[in-house]
Amino acid sequence: MILSPVRRQRVIGMLGGMSWESSAEYYRLANELVRERLGGLHSARCILASLDFAEVERLQVAGEWAEAGELLADAARGLEAAGADLLVLCTNTMHKVADQVQAAVDIPLLHLADATAAAVTAAGIDTVGLLGTAFTMEQDFYRDRLAGHGLRVLVPPADDRALVHRVIYEELCLGVVREESREAYRQVIRRLVDAGAQGVVLGCTEIELLIGSDDSPVPVFPTTRLHVQAAVTAALAGDDQAVG
Ligand code: GLU
Repeated sequence: MILSPVRRQRVIGMLGGMSWESSAEYYRLANELVRERLGGLHSARCILASLDFAEVERLQVAGEWAEAGELLADAARGLEAAGADLLVLCTNTMHKVADQVQAAVDIPLLHLADATAAAVTAAGIDTVGLLGTAFTMEQDFYRDRLAGHGLRVLVPPADDRALVHRVIYEELCLGVVREESREAYRQVIRRLVDAGAQGVVLGCTEIELLIGSDDSPVPVFPTTRLHVQAAVTAALAGDDQAVG
C-alpha cells in the first residue's frame, strides 16, 4: 500500500491555565490554523499543561516571582517529558519568568513578545501602545523585550492602567465580557493613539476576548493569535515525510 506523504507536525507544549479562558483560545486557534494550512481532518498536535490560576495570581500579588517561576518550570518539564517539541507560555505576564522556564527544559520556548514584535515590525510600525496587566505595562521585562526589536512602547496613564488591569482580573479571566468595559478600553486606546501610538499591542492573552480591530483606529496586535501563529509555523516547519 502506498501512503500519501503526510506532514509530520512537531508537538506544541502549551503552558496555560493563566487563565484558562485564554488557553481555550490557544487550543482552538492552533487547531483552526493547522486545518487551514494542511486541510482535511488535520488538527494540531499539542499537549496542554493547565495550572491553577489562583495559585499563580497569589504569587504575583505577593511578588514571589521566583516561586511562580518554579511552578511554571515544573509544568514545562512535564510537557517536555510528555513529548512536547516546543513550548508556548500562554500568558504575557508570566513571561517575566520566561528565562527560568526556558532554563528548565531543552526544548525551545517561543517568546510571545518576539512573535508580537515581528508582526508589528512587518506592519511597518515602530511606536506601539501596550495594554496588559499592571505587571506587563509597568515593569521592564516585556517593554524591554519589545524595545529590543527597535520598538518604542507607550503605556497608558495610571488611571487607565488600573482600569485595564482590573478588567483583566475581575472580568476577562472569569469569562465575563462587558460592553461597558469594551467602551472603556476603546477610550484608553484613543488616548494612546493621541499620544502617538501607531498600533496597539493587546498584551494580555484575554484582551482579544473583549476587543478587536473594530475597536481601534490603528492596527491592533492580538498576542494570543500571533503567538499561536508562530507556534503553528514552527510546528509545521521542516520535513514532509511519509508516516504510516
Ligand atoms: N493572561 C494574562 C496575560 O497574558 C494575564 C494573566 C496572568 O497574569 O498570567 O498577561
